[in-house]
Amino acid sequence: MKEIILLKQGEMVLKGLNRRGFEDRLMGNAKRRLRKYGDFHIYARQSITYVEPRSEDCDFEGAWEAMKRLFGVAGLTRARACEKDKDAMVAAAAEYLGPQLRSASSFKVEAKRADKSFPLNSIQLSQYVGGELHEAFPHLRPDMHHPDITVHLEVREEVAYVHADPEPGAGGLPVGIGGRAVSLLSGGIDSPVASWMIAKRGIAVDMVHFYSYPYTSPEAKEKVLDLARLLVPWCGRTVVHVVPFTAIQEELRRSCPEALFTILMRRFMMRIAQKVAGRIQAGALVTGESLGQVASQTLDAMACTNAVCTLPVLRPVVGMDKEEIVRIARRIGTFETSILPYEDCCTVFTPKHPRTKPKLDELEEAEAALDVEAMVDQAVAGIERVVLDL
Ligand code: ATP
Ligand code: MG
Repeated sequence: MKEIILLKQGEMVLKGLNRRGFEDRLMGNAKRRLRKYGDFHIYARQSITYVEPRSEDCDFEGAWEAMKRLFGVAGLTRARACEKDKDAMVAAAAEYLGPQLRSASSFKVEAKRADKSFPLNSIQLSQYVGGELHEAFPHLRPDMHHPDITVHLEVREEVAYVHADPEPGAGGLPVGIGGRAVSLLSGGIDSPVASWMIAKRGIAVDMVHFYSYPYTSPEAKEKVLDLARLLVPWCGRTVVHVVPFTAIQEELRRSCPEALFTILMRRFMMRIAQKVAGRIQAGALVTGESLGQVASQTLDAMACTNAVCTLPVLRPVVGMDKEEIVRIARRIGTFETSILPYEDCCTVFTPKHPRTKPKLDELEEAEAALDVEAMVDQAVAGIERVVLDL
């Protein structure tokens, strides 16, 4: 008998966000993630989404791993289908959950019926299967309150399912339900985590990366694309907009005070990211800035970068310590790639004494000597789009 995956839907937080919209988005996202693992039937019943292989050659393990990374899923479990017969359910539970039942010391059975014509009601079915399992696994103590394992039985219209407790899912909201944002992705630890956190809240993310060839190497750019690829199983399809940034940096070095270089550069990054956002109808920018980490991450510096933005700038890791960010980076699988040695465009021409308290008027004065718009337009015209799909 075949195995399926059950997804428990996550929180429905937003008022006015109806269940239907949430469910449809979750199913659509699941469908796209599962495409490469074979033909699956996906449907929802009573806030559970069912993922059912349609053929023998589906890669079930691959599908299971993919579903663990699906935002909007609060919990998930694998279930075994069996005949709608009380003894078939006992046999399926004993075999399918055998290893877990052997290593547990207490258990309970919880039955649910969607098919109300089933001859036993939920309580009777739980009692029957519980009794039989107790005989098969005599070391198990029934415990209705804190069992080591709960054997779940679901009697549906056509078949019954047996499964253990769900494990925690990726959480959050289905990607795309909250619109789109543009995330500034460097090769560091923080910005992949920031992008992930925003995607987790239901926002689809496009990436913008600034590179400074020949000051930064093609390998540095490849590394950033690798990071973006690692995010795809979580965030879904994304586009990395790779922006040539060398000309702007050289111009800034030529005509602006050195101490302001970093903050001026960051203002250009924001302006360009905002242009990209306009092209793709994104509603926000995302950065991996964390307060106090470096000279450009002070309140004054943030005020100066925000001054060139009309879109909200989301900084999900702003209040986190490095260790907290690293913990997430490890969990989502980006850490090992982030710590590979690389040059970032931010490290090119870094001033010896960057200003930690820049003033807006001195920045504007420095920029007055520049044709800001032309510089931005030229960079935008040189953008290379790299599409990363599931
Ligand atoms: P990260 O670990 O994300 O690189 P960081 O602590 O090194 O962050 P900065 O280098 O000051 O901090 O960058 C702050 C933020 O600016 C980054 O989190 C990222 O969002 C953005 N950023 C920096 N460099 C680039 C780049 N080359 N391309 C795109 N965005 C960048
Ligand atoms: Mg960095």
